[in-house]
Amino acid sequence: MQHQEKVKTLAFKKVIRPFIKTRALFDKATGNPVETNLDVYRGVVSAVKFRDLRGLPDGELKARSEALIADSRSVPDVGDNGPANAPSPPHDRLIEAFALVREASRRVLRLDPFDAQLISGLAMSGGKIAELPTGEGKTLAAVFPAYFFALSGKGVHVLTFNDYLARRDAVWMGPIYEFLDLTVGCAREGAQAGEKRQAYGCDVTYATAKEAGFDFLRDGIASSVGDLVHRPFHVAIVDEADSILIDEARVPLIIAGVGERATWDARRLAGLIKMSGPGCDFETDAEHRNVFLTDKGAARLEAALDCGSLYDAKNQRLLEAVHCALHAEALLRRDVDYIVSESRIEIVDEFTGRVVDNRHWPDGLQAAVEAKEGLARKSEGRVLGSITLQHFFRLYPRLSGMTATARPAALEFKEFYGLNTVIVPPNRPSIRKDEPDRIYTHREAKRMAIADEIARVHSGRRPVLVGTASVRESEELTADLKGAGIACEVLNAKNDELEAKIIAGAGKPGAVTISTNMAGRGTDIKLGGEDERERDRVVALGGLYVIGTNRHESLRIDHQLRGRSGRQGDPGSTRFFISLEDDLFERYGLTSRLFKRHRLSRQGEAVENELVSRDIGHAQRVIEGQNFDIRRSLWKYSELVEMQRRIIQDWRRAMLSRDGRDGAPGPVAEKAPALFTAAAARFGKRKARELERRLTLVKINDAWSDHLAWVQDTRESIHLVSLGGKTPLGEFQRSATAEFLKIRPRVEEAVIAAFETRLGKNDSLDFDADEFKGPSSTWTYLVNEDQFGWGIEMLSGKNIGLAAGAALFAGPLYVFALLINKFSKKKARGAT
Ligand code: ADP
Ligand code: MG
Repeated sequence: MQHQEKVKTLAFKKVIRPFIKTRALFDKATGNPVETNLDVYRGVVSAVKFRDLRGLPDGELKARSEALIADSRSVPDVGDNGPANAPSPPHDRLIEAFALVREASRRVLRLDPFDAQLISGLAMSGGKIAELPTGEGKTLAAVFPAYFFALSGKGVHVLTFNDYLARRDAVWMGPIYEFLDLTVGCAREGAQAGEKRQAYGCDVTYATAKEAGFDFLRDGIASSVGDLVHRPFHVAIVDEADSILIDEARVPLIIAGVGERATWDARRLAGLIKMSGPGCDFETDAEHRNVFLTDKGAARLEAALDCGSLYDAKNQRLLEAVHCALHAEALLRRDVDYIVSESRIEIVDEFTGRVVDNRHWPDGLQAAVEAKEGLARKSEGRVLGSITLQHFFRLYPRLSGMTATARPAALEFKEFYGLNTVIVPPNRPSIRKDEPDRIYTHREAKRMAIADEIARVHSGRRPVLVGTASVRESEELTADLKGAGIACEVLNAKNDELEAKIIAGAGKPGAVTISTNMAGRGTDIKLGGEDERERDRVVALGGLYVIGTNRHESLRIDHQLRGRSGRQGDPGSTRFFISLEDDLFERYGLTSRLFKRHRLSRQGEAVENELVSRDIGHAQRVIEGQNFDIRRSLWKYSELVEMQRRIIQDWRRAMLSRDGRDGAPGPVAEKAPALFTAAAARFGKRKARELERRLTLVKINDAWSDHLAWVQDTRESIHLVSLGGKTPLGEFQRSATAEFLKIRPRVEEAVIAAFETRLGKNDSLDFDADEFKGPSSTWTYLVNEDQFGWGIEMLSGKNIGLAAGAALFAGPLYVFALLINKFSKKKARGAT
């Protein structure tokens, strides 16, 4: 026995410790932004616990919170690192804040925060991403930093995964803030401006990231300061941070208003392209991610449209429209990529496999798909403003977040947001068992095996949760199970609340729940049902059994699914069933490679081959890495436009808050002083200035909207530039800058012209007239940029499918490439 102990210690000293050390070194060399050493945090946690406030009466606790709030607000300029001459040092304030929240939680929610929650709260207070497994209570953990940051009175946004969760969390956690004398609000989707303004005026505001972003865009076209709903941004704490900060990061939020842009006759093009055929007029690549017009196809279209060469400069817009029509016809599949419902196109989300509300493709592509399906063109209006979620988050001076799956995204958190990731172990260690994948050669075999497995497990009444990749797959599986006489719940409600209810019941004995991968994120699955009545019975059966029917492009989503089982130390197990014919492998051309490489032939049984599963895991990591590259390159495109947006916004904001008396002269007073003097003589100086101000706001809106339209067109067609031997990004930046520089003179000219026209009229000035207002009606939506496949084209012709396939056989090389990439970046930074 003693000897064994000795061997263990020796093994630790000689093998494990040096390994940990090299690992730390390796992490340092590769710039790994993950923190696993929690010593510092534990130190603060013990200080918090030492300040035990249990003995204080409620009133005194409140008084301490009030004192802390007053203390934090007493110094007018609370800098980011805390006030220089604060009455109490920031560190002490942090401990006091945590001790207060801890005690308030005990009293009003009857929840005694775990160390893991305190540590996560500390990590977030330090501006980091906290990884804490599902079901560990992240909602409560976020209250600590939210309270701490809200002390300053500048407003904290807690951004949730969906609107239902925003409402739930605000109501659930609200009593803690209120007990401690802070206000809390929820900016619900679709609420009126007044309600929104009040919600954002609270110390802590719960909202979805999208809604906060849309409100920001609405503020961007406001015609008076009183219409603004947001305060200047201060802190955002993002729940489900990997999904929102990374997967959704590229999604542009759009605000549009009435008005129409001329587009090509999409219906006519769709008809022409339908008549031609694949293989002859156009071709797609093997991975089905790109489509090309053949020479013959081009000639036929040119003849039919009588337009001369499609590749002439004058036909650029037409060529784009043709490209969109081809894309719609050849690459987008009805019922997979989109569905048609009530004569509308509804897009299916690539990550969740579910229909997403309020989402469009870029204009031209949307028109092309509508034309392909013979639907009437829905007016998209004019884009008045847009921002990607990623840029939106960067408007917050302080950002932090939490999720159960941060580690795999740590590099991206670092690169895009400069955030480190802190891994917090669960309060009770997980005893969940992740079984090895069952791999089948073909889809049918897998499908049968899944139905058999569910039937087998279900016969013992153990609850099963199945995560599928698409709505179609859910439906197939439901039919299979029905055939076998098994009733199941399927999540296809477009209602988050209903969905949360169904998911919450997934732990009941005998429950079979089928859901696309991400449905119900944020909802807790308790064993034995929501009331945990039959908990013991389910525990005895082994807890929740999670089946994944597909590996996802992102490992994180696989982890999320697994994490549904085994919460807070519960028993549970998970298993993935995959086939080599799954979309993931076919899309990247891996199916035939795997068959060949492992000399496989179709069989009904699972493939028992360690190497196959290793290759699959590896391919998944490679694909993930390449998606990262795509995001990075798309980022470069949007970065410039974002910079331009900020310049215009600053200009607009200055105009917005200018009053009638003082301040710098506006465009008319400056560029056409005689005109201004004439107006001042007629209306009075104040009114003349107001007229100038109003007109400038309207003209800035117009000019920015035109610019965005220009950017959109150029981006859609810029990949054609690479055919001419130029680099698309460079070309884009050059022309976008040139275009941007025209905005100011254009606005000034337009303002002067409008001013002159107004002066020519005899009637008196009425600032409530339409001409001075923004668009009469606006609406907001999201754009599915990536469906357009231009991520791939932008990697300057690199073919992702081939690259993934090649990398599958050159694993170490890939790692090497990552390192090189890293070092070359460092160098570049050093040089500037
Ligand atoms: P997560 O977001 O991490 O998945 P939630 O915030 O949804 O987790 O909380 C999961 C469950 O844990 C909830 O039912 C909540 O009541 C419970 N919970 C949270 N904190 C505590 C605590 N300190 N003690 C006991 N239960 C807790
Ligand atoms: Mg949660």
